[in-house]
Amino acid sequence: MPQAPSCATSRDHGTAPGGVRRLILGDVPDDCLFCRIVSGDLPATVIWEDDHTIVFRDIEPQAPTHVLVIPREHQPNAAASTQANPAVTSALVAAAAAVAEQEGLDGNYRMVFNTGSGAGQSVFHTHLHVLGGRDLTWPPG
Ligand code: 5GP
Ligand code: ZN
Repeated sequence: MPQAPSCATSRDHGTAPGGVRRLILGDVPDDCLFCRIVSGDLPATVIWEDDHTIVFRDIEPQAPTHVLVIPREHQPNAAASTQANPAVTSALVAAAAAVAEQEGLDGNYRMVFNTGSGAGQSVFHTHLHVLGGRDLTWPPG
C-alpha cells in the first residue's frame, strides 16, 4: 500500500514513550506545497479568494481552464476537510462554481477530488480540480 508523504496528515511531534509516533491532526505542516501557496511563500496565479478558499491556476493544465480550489485550512483530503468542518467543503464547491462562471464555462465543467495516491492524488492538501473549456470525455483517462 503506498504511503502518503509526511505532510499528508500532520506535523510529526516526535516519539512518545513506547515508540508511538505523536501526531497532532490539523496541525499545519511546514513542507506542504499548498500551505505555502496559502501563506504567500510560494507564488501562484490566484484568481479567487474568500474567507475559506483560494483558487489558482494549475501549473500543468489538462484543459483550457484548469484551476485548483483549496481550503486555507490544511487537511489531507476532501473527506478529512468535511469531517473537520463541513462548511469548508460547501465553500470549495461554491468557489468552484463562481470561478467556472468567471472563466465563461457556461455551466460545462468538471469538479474532481482525487483522494489517495492510487487515485492520482499527489498533493496531500485538499484540492478541488475544476476543468473546462474543452469536451470532457467519460470515463476519465
Ligand atoms: P493531484 O494530482 O494531487 O490531484 O493534483 C495536484 C495538482 O497540483 C496537479 O494537477 C499539479 O499539476 C498541481 N501542482 C503541483 N505543484 C504545483 C505548483 O507548485 N503550483 C501549481 N499552481 N500547481 C501545482
Ligand atoms: Zn497544506
